Amino acid sequence: MNPQPANLNAQLSGEFAFIDWIRRQTSADPRVPIGIGDDAAALRLTPGREVLVTTDMILEGVHFERPRASARAIGRKAMAVNLSDIAAMAGVPVAAVASVGLPRDFRNHDAEELFHGMHDLAGEFGVALVGGDTNCSESGLVVAITLIGEATSRGPVRRSGARLGDWIMVTGSLGGSILSKHLDFTPRVREAIVLHERCELHAMIDVSDGLAADLGHILDESGCGAILRADEIPISAEAHNMPGEATSLDRALYDGEDFELLFTLPGTEAERLVADQPLGVRITHIGTVAPESGLWLESSDGSRRLLAPNGFDHFAR
Ligand code: ADP
Ligand code: MG
Repeated sequence: MNPQPANLNAQLSGEFAFIDWIRRQTSADPRVPIGIGDDAAALRLTPGREVLVTTDMILEGVHFERPRASARAIGRKAMAVNLSDIAAMAGVPVAAVASVGLPRDFRNHDAEELFHGMHDLAGEFGVALVGGDTNCSESGLVVAITLIGEATSRGPVRRSGARLGDWIMVTGSLGGSILSKHLDFTPRVREAIVLHERCELHAMIDVSDGLAADLGHILDESGCGAILRADEIPISAEAHNMPGEATSLDRALYDGEDFELLFTLPGTEAERLVADQPLGVRITHIGTVAPESGLWLESSDGSRRLLAPNGFDHFAR
C-alpha cells in the first residue's frame, strides 16, 4: 500500500483499482506461471541460458518534460531504454516489472496512457508485464522499469571483448536525438540478435550517453584504444539541423540517447556485414580498435586529435 495520487484515488478508487485494471490488460504467458497479483512474479526461463537483468529509471525534468511528452510517449520510452540495454547484450527480453511515481495532477486517463505506452512496446517485443509498484510522487513523474531477459545460445555480448584490429561499427545515424528520436526510437533488439547470429561480435553497447562516451566504455572495459574516422561517422539529419554552437560532428560524438548499437568484430566479418547490410537499418564502419591508448579522431587529411571521452553525464550538470 502506498500514498495515493489524489486524482487516481478519486477516479480509480486508488492504487488497487489501478493495479486491477493493469492486471486485466495483461494476458497469460507460458513463461509466466505467476504474474501480477501476488507478492512476487514467477518466471520459467530457458534452462541453461544466462538470465539478463537491467533496470532504468526515467524522471520528469531530466529525461522528459510534461506535457511536451505525452504520458503514452513517456511509458513507451521507459520500456524502450530497458529494451535497448537487453539489445546491447544481444539478449532476448522476456518480462518486465514497472514501478511508477505518479504526480498528483496525473489523471486516470494519463495513468492508463502511461501504461499503454509501456505495454504496447513490450508486446511488440514479446515482453510480459509481470509486476511493479504504484506510488504517488511529490516531485514529478518517475517511471522505473526492470527488464529480465535471457541470453541466446551464443551467450551475452559484453563491453569487454574488443580486440586489437577489430572494426568499430554503428547502426543508424547519430546526434540530435533530442529533436524527436529520444522519445520514439525503436530499440535494436532484433538487429542485435541478427548480428549475434551472423557474426562473431567481440564487444557491444547501446549508444545512450553519446558515441564518444559509450565507445570509451568499451575501450576501458577491453583495455585498448581506438581511432575513429571523422568522415565515416553517420550524422543524423537532426544533428545537421540543430541550431547552436556545436558542429553536427560534435553532436554525433557527444549527444546522448541515440540508442543505436555500437559494436566491434574482426575486419573480415565486418567487411561482409557492410556489403550485405542484413539489418533494416544501415551498418557503418566508423573506426578501428588500436594499440594507442585513448580515443582518437582522424580527419580526412590524416591528422589526429585525442577525444575527451565525455557524453551526457548526469553528475556533471
Ligand atoms: P506488495 O504490497 O506486496 O508489494 P502491491 O500491492 O504493491 O504488492 O502490488 C500488488 C501486485 O500488483 C503485485 O503483483 C505487483 O507486482 C503489481 N503491481 C503494482 N503496481 C504495478 C504497476 N504499476 N504495474 C504492474 N504491476 C503492478
Ligand atoms: Mg507483498
